Amino acid sequence: MSIDTRAIRQDFPILHQEVHGRPLVYLDNAATTQKPRSVIDALVRYYEQDNSNIHRGIHTLAVRATEQYEDTRTRVARFINAPAPEGIVFTRNTTESLNLIARTWGDTHVNEGDEIVLSVMEHHSNIVPWQLLARRRGAVLKYADVDDQGYLKLDELRSLITPKTKLVTMMHASNVLGTINPISEIAEMAHAAGALFVVDAAQSVPHLPVDVEALGCDVLAFSAHKMAGPTGVGVLWADTDLLEEMQPFLGGGEMISVVREEGSTWADVPHKFEAGTPNIADVVAFSAAVDYLESIGMEAVREHEKALTAYALDRLSTIEGLTIHGPTDVEHRGGAVSFTMAEAHPHDISTIVDTHGVAIRAGHHCAQLLMRRLGVPATSRASFYIYNETSEIDALVEALEDVRRVFGHAGTRSAV
Ligand code: PMP
Repeated sequence: MSIDTRAIRQDFPILHQEVHGRPLVYLDNAATTQKPRSVIDALVRYYEQDNSNIHRGIHTLAVRATEQYEDTRTRVARFINAPAPEGIVFTRNTTESLNLIARTWGDTHVNEGDEIVLSVMEHHSNIVPWQLLARRRGAVLKYADVDDQGYLKLDELRSLITPKTKLVTMMHASNVLGTINPISEIAEMAHAAGALFVVDAAQSVPHLPVDVEALGCDVLAFSAHKMAGPTGVGVLWADTDLLEEMQPFLGGGEMISVVREEGSTWADVPHKFEAGTPNIADVVAFSAAVDYLESIGMEAVREHEKALTAYALDRLSTIEGLTIHGPTDVEHRGGAVSFTMAEAHPHDISTIVDTHGVAIRAGHHCAQLLMRRLGVPATSRASFYIYNETSEIDALVEALEDVRRVFGHAGTRSAV
């Protein structure tokens, strides 16, 4: 199953530029992906033809805007095989989706001495909301470790989940190591203990077929901007029964049924969780991103990224003094490839590589617990998407050879 990157690249206007006199090589897709012309056009079309506030109006533009907004909900539900569009709540990003669940479900169900189980691999978005919840409610956080290859220690995780566990949360795919966690297996562990299971899917929904029914999780969070869609739109999926039972997150317009002096009643889900005027234009344009990915096919996206990742792991391993952090088996990993180079700081690596027109990321990648576990302050990270080609990995390798020439090579560090 192969995809036509030549044709795909034609759809992404931003890719056709030079940076420092070299063709842009964009390998920072785990941070955010580029947008195809159809998404940009959908945004412009919305503002030029349909802009109106939604739900309240009965004039033609309001009806059109409402239909498009709600149509995106239906498409997103279908994209992740959610049983009902009402299970899709639009937020600002993955971070807000996770905070929403921590504030609402968490504040109601988590009590003094209860335990929340997560892992040291998690992004800060899936750590800090639980730390805040634990502080508010007097709960305890327990972190599962990763092994030296960068896989989650499943046996350790199993032993951390006890009858005291109220909630288990885990990333589906790592933004640093690339590791894909066995979500359905973890769902069984969590449910056997009667715990709620929340999945941070920010790095999986954009890159591989995700079916919430098959995964068996209760809650799933992801961001549109990491899957060819606009910034400012996040998704929280949860079973509608769970959403019905949860208290609201933000109060205000749109989320109420009746307001009286002594109190209010709430709108039906998902509107109960979408207070105020939402990010209508970007939600509408998100639909074009979902269409775009569906037209390629998520199986094909995954196969393409597997091939690119295998090529990258192979080529990077030829660079002296370079250490790759994370699994080497592409069946169990996505396309985020982190590495360190003896002597060179990741920020210096990024700066030199940028002079070759190659965009990669350097830093702790919002994963300071994992950095500590890896024993490094930061890593460099290349991450791939549908428009990347092997020739761009060659450009990265060539740029890294330049880094090596500048910094010399003082031997290889040990992995993880
Ligand atoms: N989780 C993971 C695994 C991520 O990679 C990211 C983005 N780097 C987030 C959560 C947060 O996403 P956002 O910034 O869109 O809220």
